[in-house]
Amino acid sequence: MAKKLFGTSGIRGKVNSEVTAELALNVGKSLAYYLGNQGRVVLGYDTRTSNEMLDQAICAGLLESGIDVIKIGLVPTPLVVYATDKLKADAGIMLTASHNPPQYNGIKIWNPNGMAYTSAQEAKIEEIYHNKDYTSVTWDKIGSLSYNEEIKDQYIEDLVNLVDIKHGLKVVIDCASGAGSEFSPLIFRKAGCDVTTLNCQVDGFFPGRNPEPNEENLQTLMKTVVAIGADLGIAHDGDADRMITVDEKGNISPFDSLLALISKKFGGTVVTTVDAGLCMDEALKEVGGNVLRTKVGDVNVAEVIIEENATFGGEPSGTWLHPDFCICPDGILSGLRMAEIVSNEGKLSDLLKEIPTYPNIREKVVCSKEAKINIMKNMEQLLTDNFDDIREINVIDGVRITFEDDSWVLVRPSGTEDYVRVTLESKNQERAEFIRDECLKIINDNL
Ligand code: MG
Repeated sequence: MAKKLFGTSGIRGKVNSEVTAELALNVGKSLAYYLGNQGRVVLGYDTRTSNEMLDQAICAGLLESGIDVIKIGLVPTPLVVYATDKLKADAGIMLTASHNPPQYNGIKIWNPNGMAYTSAQEAKIEEIYHNKDYTSVTWDKIGSLSYNEEIKDQYIEDLVNLVDIKHGLKVVIDCASGAGSEFSPLIFRKAGCDVTTLNCQVDGFFPGRNPEPNEENLQTLMKTVVAIGADLGIAHDGDADRMITVDEKGNISPFDSLLALISKKFGGTVVTTVDAGLCMDEALKEVGGNVLRTKVGDVNVAEVIIEENATFGGEPSGTWLHPDFCICPDGILSGLRMAEIVSNEGKLSDLLKEIPTYPNIREKVVCSKEAKINIMKNMEQLLTDNFDDIREINVIDGVRITFEDDSWVLVRPSGTEDYVRVTLESKNQERAEFIRDECLKIINDNL
C-alpha cells in the first residue's frame, strides 16, 4: 500500500526526504484535478528555509493544471484562510510545519469557508496523487499567477477593529522567528499596546527558540515579562495559528484554564476536544452556557462549530477558533482577545485564579502498534466492566468516561507513536490516583 500522505494536520515531514519539491508539484496537480482543473487558489508560507522551494513547486503544479494562483508570500496560516475567503478563491494552501523543528515542512489545504480540508477531502486528494490521475491542461488554459499584498493590510485592519484594548498595555511577544514575526507585533501596536519583541526577526533556523510554545522553550519570554514589568506575554508557534500567554508574574498560563477563561467571555455553546478539563464545564455553567466535546484536531472543532452554530471553539493546546471572525485557528486574534480581557479586567494571574483547577494526571503506556489497536477495540467494555459509577461515555475519540462525581478519564491511542494515553481529572487527589491505578491495571492486564 502506498504511504499515507496526510497525517493529523495536513502533509508533514522532513524536508527533502519526505517533503520534497516533487511531492509539492504533484500535490499541486492533484489538488487542481480535485478542483476540476479550474478556479483560484491562495498560496502562502511560513519562515522555513524550504518554503520558497515548495512554493515554486506547488505553484507550478497548479498552473500546469489550469489553476490561477494568488501568492501572498510569508504569512501566518490564518491569513491564508482569511485571503481565501475575502478573495473568493476555491482553496487556500499554507506551506508550514507549524510547531515542528526547522528541518520539517508541510502542506495544509483549506476550504473557502475557513475549515481545513476534512479527512474525506484529504483521502480524495491522496487517491488522485497515488493513482497519478491528475492531468495537465493545454497551453492556452495554463493558470495565471498574481501577487496580492493588499489583503495583508486588510487582515491587519480587520483584526485591530475587532478588539478594544486600553492604550499602553505592556505586552511582550515571542514569535519564535516564525510566521507571526512581521504581523503579530505590528497588529498589537496598532491596537494600542506597548510591545516588546522577542524572536521576531524572520529566520527559518528558529535560532532563538524551538517553534513549539511550551515552558521549556519560553524561559526568555517568562523572564522578560517580569524584568520589564509587562502586563502580558504572548508566544506563538511557527505559523501563528496558536498562542499561549505568560502572566505578569512570569508564569505560563495553564492551557485548560486559559481556554476556560476565554470561553466564559463568549458563553453559549462552546466546542472543545475530548482532552479538555472540567474547568471548561464549570466556567460555562457559570454563564449559562454549555460545552461540546469532539475529536482532537482543529478541523473537527470547526465542523462542530458550524453544525451547532457555536460561539467559540478551542483545543487545550492553545488552538482557538473564533467563528465571529473565521473558523480557522488564529493565534494573533487569540492573543488580542487575551490582551483585551487583561486591559479591561485586571491582572491575568488574578483572572486565572478564578478558574478552578483540580488534580489531573497524564500517563502513557508503551505498547506495540497491534496491541494499541486491539486494546482500544475493547476499551469501552473493559472500563464499563471495572467501574460502576459511570455517568456518561463518549467514544468519539478514544474512550472518555465521566463519573457520577464529575471525575473523568480519557483513554486514547496516540496518533503518531506506539502508546496509549491515559488522561484524567478529579476533584479529589486520592480519587484521581485510584482511577489512574485502575486504568493502568486494566491496560496492562489486557495488553
Ligand atoms: Mg500551528
